[in-house]
Amino acid sequence: MLDCKNLEMHPFISYKNFFRRFLFLIWACLLLLYPYGIAQGETSAEDTAWQSIETKHTVIYYQTMEDLKKFNKKVVYYSARRGLKSLFSTSSDNLTDKLKKKVDALFKRVQEILDMRKRMNRVIINIYHDKKQLRAAYYEIFKKKCSFRGWYLYERNTIYINVDDLNEGMLAHEMAHSIIDHYFAIRPPKATAEILARYVDKHLLD
Ligand SMILES: [Zn+2]
Repeated sequence: MLDCKNLEMHPFISYKNFFRRFLFLIWACLLLLYPYGIAQGETSAEDTAWQSIETKHTVIYYQTMEDLKKFNKKVVYYSARRGLKSLFSTSSDNLTDKLKKKVDALFKRVQEILDMRKRMNRVIINIYHDKKQLRAAYYEIFKKKCSFRGWYLYERNTIYINVDDLNEGMLAHEMAHSIIDHYFAIRPPKATAEILARYVDKHLLD
């Protein structure tokens, strides 16, 4: 059982609202204690069947093939090292193979930008259908309403995203939180981690 005081989450929000929301979160956490009991990759709002794909650096949880296709379409990233060949050779790969290569290439790019190349446990990526389902997942964990587009939760090393509202920058940003939080012996302050994660999504394609 964990209570909110022990949860470290990194929402994807505008920088302007970051400190305001952070203070609100602290305030909310100080007021509330609640159980933290849902299993990984589940929401109680719907009886959903989760499937997973394991890549070198991540484990992707998804519910339907449609969601996975959408995820592949929304996350646009081609590794510079694989060059033009990767742009045109993907027809021979199936969706899962394409996705694995892309997500791992993105993870490696984030490590490269941060210069934090340590071996790390796989980060979990939970893909939700839509805003409603993402918000339900947030409510299950934090027992309050959410307006975040996505977030990273350190205690589960998990990224929570809505496939309807996603791009490669957002995913890279949340991956950065996982990498930053696991690179140092002592995790950096939340504001420092946020500045670094924002640097990553801004310079992803440099
Ligand atoms: Zn962040």
